[in-house]
Amino acid sequence: MRGKLVVGNWKMNGGLRQNDALLGDLRAGWTAPPGRQLAVCVPYPYLWQAQAALSGSAIAWGAQSVSEHAVGAFTGEVSAAMVAEFGCRYAIVGHSERRALFGEADAAVAAKAVAALAAGVTPIVCVGETLGEREAGATETVVLRQLDAVIAAVGQQLAALVVAYEPVWAIGTGRTASPEQAQDVHRLLRTRLSAADKGAADVLLLYGGSVKAANAKSLFGCPDIDGGLIGGASLKADEFLAIAGA
Ligand code: PEP
Repeated sequence: MRGKLVVGNWKMNGGLRQNDALLGDLRAGWTAPPGRQLAVCVPYPYLWQAQAALSGSAIAWGAQSVSEHAVGAFTGEVSAAMVAEFGCRYAIVGHSERRALFGEADAAVAAKAVAALAAGVTPIVCVGETLGEREAGATETVVLRQLDAVIAAVGQQLAALVVAYEPVWAIGTGRTASPEQAQDVHRLLRTRLSAADKGAADVLLLYGGSVKAANAKSLFGCPDIDGGLIGGASLKADEFLAIAGA
């Protein structure tokens, strides 16, 4: 049976003092119920701090992106092998902010997923449509195009992915997909993954987009929703822990 995974995405937030408090509160408050996993994806400079604060706990940590390249003259980039050295279990790839603000196209996202896997880091591959795309009836086309690029690139390692469905119109907006809307897309993603590789039928599928303690239970109760990728609410220990316990 698939367990539940809740991952915090701090985005470009934090500072040494605040992080100490937040990581300490998470470590103290997480009771690690059976079948439930918790993780935080922090800015690169704080990976060492997450590692120091969370080592030996039941909470994993990760990065918010990785380079598609392994090594070399790529100023400003950080490789998957580098984040692996800081104990990262996960790296988010293809977050909609990376796609929209930093021009990451499907091929680059797929290459990042491959680079993460090569370094032993689990990529959390984000897919999701904009409001315009949903209103135009293009949700399925968009998320399958984004997923197919990754499926084609990772080959036999498909079962090692985590996939997050994050409708762009729900990220940081306070507007959440209904459980039915999210479940429909999750079912579509699971069908596509298992058609590509039977072993990928149990890939964890996270929902992201304005998840709070108040709506987590109804979302995570859907048959194909295996947890969440949480932005704003992951910066408050109580709220994040309540989501993870939902
Ligand atoms: C995100 O950034 O991945 C996200 C889901 O953000 P929020 O929870 O703030 O909508």
